[in-house]
Amino acid sequence: MLTSPSDPTVFQRRESEARSYCRGFDAVFSQAAGSELIDADGNRYIDFLAGCSSLNYGHNDPDMKQALIDHIAGDGIAHGLDLHTEVKARFLTAFETHILKPRNMDHRVMFTGPTGANAVEAAMKLARKVTGRTNIVAFTNGFHGVTQGALSATGNGYHRGGAGIVLAGVTRLPFEGYMGSDIDTALMLEKMLGDPSSGVEPPAAIMFETIQGEGGLNAASAEWVRRVARIAKDHGALLIIDDVQAGCGRAGSFFSFEDFGVMPDIVTMAKSISGFGLPMALMLVRPEHDKFGPAEHNGTFRGNTHAFVTARIAIEKFWADDSFQEQLKQKERIILSGLAAISEMVPGARLKGRGLMRGVDVGSGDLAAAICRRAYDNGLVIETSGPNDEVVKILAPLTTPDTVLRKGLNILMDAVRDTVTDMKFAAE
Ligand SMILES: *Cc1c(COP(=O)(O)O)cnc(C)c1O
Repeated sequence: MLTSPSDPTVFQRRESEARSYCRGFDAVFSQAAGSELIDADGNRYIDFLAGCSSLNYGHNDPDMKQALIDHIAGDGIAHGLDLHTEVKARFLTAFETHILKPRNMDHRVMFTGPTGANAVEAAMKLARKVTGRTNIVAFTNGFHGVTQGALSATGNGYHRGGAGIVLAGVTRLPFEGYMGSDIDTALMLEKMLGDPSSGVEPPAAIMFETIQGEGGLNAASAEWVRRVARIAKDHGALLIIDDVQAGCGRAGSFFSFEDFGVMPDIVTMAKSISGFGLPMALMLVRPEHDKFGPAEHNGTFRGNTHAFVTARIAIEKFWADDSFQEQLKQKERIILSGLAAISEMVPGARLKGRGLMRGVDVGSGDLAAAICRRAYDNGLVIETSGPNDEVVKILAPLTTPDTVLRKGLNILMDAVRDTVTDMKFAAE
């Protein structure tokens, strides 16, 4: 068999300008294990990006890898449309037993196309179908994906600018804290929905992330989430929680909302649901809203059988009891102490996020980019988020050993210290 060379000039020559992460992290990566990436020259990097939280259980988890190898070696089904397969039955059973039942969730599982945006599209469509309404309330700095429907709910102007069409059917309202801590944005929402002359159409759904991943790690309080859930109910709107990024343990629990005393009508999941970084997405729907007819919301890749294999292991290995969740508390403490040290180095810095989805707002996108650049030069892959990319964001795999976590945080601290010092010299 022929083997083409791994010539890095091909990316510039042939890959679309739409490429993005590879611009900040320009190595050619070849291998990965746990929380480490290795490039073609053998350089090692600690991964605090983790596929934007698609690799919550690290790279190449050995149990998932072995199960997948066994499945492939045994000629297990590779593509099965949405046919019944053994691996799908096993995944659904594990998900029912270890995730849904213990949380008293009666939701049905609907497999959508394999991306987060696919799940969001399905959720928005379903809410519209169920309620007969078109409007959807979404919030400032929300990110829900970049396909047409999902993009209409996404706040980011750069992404919206790529639409080339009017993005309609969504009313944007301020997220918690957006107007400062004195202004109660849940009250605003309630007032506007309750006023027939506010100009806000009665919504099919109110949709948000409990921790805004791309929007700058704004974390909603339990109280705000509960009030918004109540407002949705009072106004006949479905509550959609987009847990694509904050789910699968990232918030410190399997779902980002599970300690908040709310029961969303729809939950969207993707990113880490396969456990292994394979494409897979789903939405959870209360049975009374499970109203798509057979194939009404179709898709060739609804259910990736390889992902079912690894997703089942992820659930059984990490969520069958409380031990993993307990370990997350310790990791959260380590991250918080590192971030506290960092925030002391940057005047005006603010800690952001919740659970293991944490970061620090350093006040400017330039500073955040310089910090991430320097961290990368020292072997740490880490990204920014926020409206002006001003938040340095830690999305380390949840399985990162404490020593590696500390090592990564130390690289980050050094990068912050050195960058701030350089800037001081430049200013003098
Ligand atoms: C990443 C993300 C999406 C979109 O997922 P894709 O797989 O990139 O389409 C949707 N919602 C949230 C909260 C996300 O973080």
